[in-house]
Amino acid sequence: MSALSAPHFHNEEAAYAYVESRIWPEGPVCPKCGGVERIGLMGGKSTRIGLYKCYQCRSPFTVKIGTIFEASHVPMRLWLQAIYLIASSKKGFSSNQLHRTLGVTQKTAWFMSHRIREAMRTGDLSPFGAEGGVVEADETYIGREPGAPVGKGGAHKMKVLSLIDRETGRARSMVMDQVNSKTVAAVVTENMAVEARLVTDEATWYLRAGKTVANHGAVNHGKGEYVSRCDRTIHTNTVEGFFSIFKRGMKGVYQQCDKKHLHRYLAEFDFRYSNRMALGIGDVARADNLLAGVVGKRLTYETAGA
Ligand SMILES: [Zn+2]
Repeated sequence: MSALSAPHFHNEEAAYAYVESRIWPEGPVCPKCGGVERIGLMGGKSTRIGLYKCYQCRSPFTVKIGTIFEASHVPMRLWLQAIYLIASSKKGFSSNQLHRTLGVTQKTAWFMSHRIREAMRTGDLSPFGAEGGVVEADETYIGREPGAPVGKGGAHKMKVLSLIDRETGRARSMVMDQVNSKTVAAVVTENMAVEARLVTDEATWYLRAGKTVANHGAVNHGKGEYVSRCDRTIHTNTVEGFFSIFKRGMKGVYQQCDKKHLHRYLAEFDFRYSNRMALGIGDVARADNLLAGVVGKRLTYETAGA
């Protein structure tokens, strides 16, 4: 059976029921007064699907209020198709492809893609490397830094620093204006537990960061060393594997990206990586985890930088 044959991808009432069951597991909640007691489903032929009324504050509402779906005229079943496609495509799903697959306009597809990416921002601030776990850190360079002259090396490219928590398998990536001892140490301090073990390559900007956590191991790529001979756990192969998926996606699917949107693309790749098959999370569960992130992520055309 096709994954996309489930009723919530085709029937609008089933789509609403699906979203409601995930956003309101205990039943409808009034977005205005928080009431749960005196809520009724509005009936009648002319009534919109999923319209409720709170008889405590007399407000009508749907499950879309306060989510990325708010004020969108796109049918919920198409939102769910888009979420599934983006959640299950390892290298991403371009908005142009979304436009062709769903039959929505290019502008709508672009906007949906950005909203869905926003829902993939987990807001998870819990430190990596808790209880002395290993965290790999590495940086990569991509595209073009706005206004930078093209030169040798990565100087003219946008800079990304990623952390991978080997224990939980999570990825967390940051757009960096500068990569140096100070900025890298700030990221490590904000995102890693003090008892963590940091593992990096030999780049000097990791030295100061390494002193802010319990332990720092470095592998010397310059000397052709990819796994430390003294300690086989000292390598950055995991984070490099993550970068390889990110780069193949950015190059093959998204092709170009403005710096103002780069953090959203990173959130997308972080999300899929942190919810990947190897961690026991299949496509349906990944799409559901994405759906859980739609709350509180309203994004207007203005904040999307359209
Ligand atoms: Zn109310």
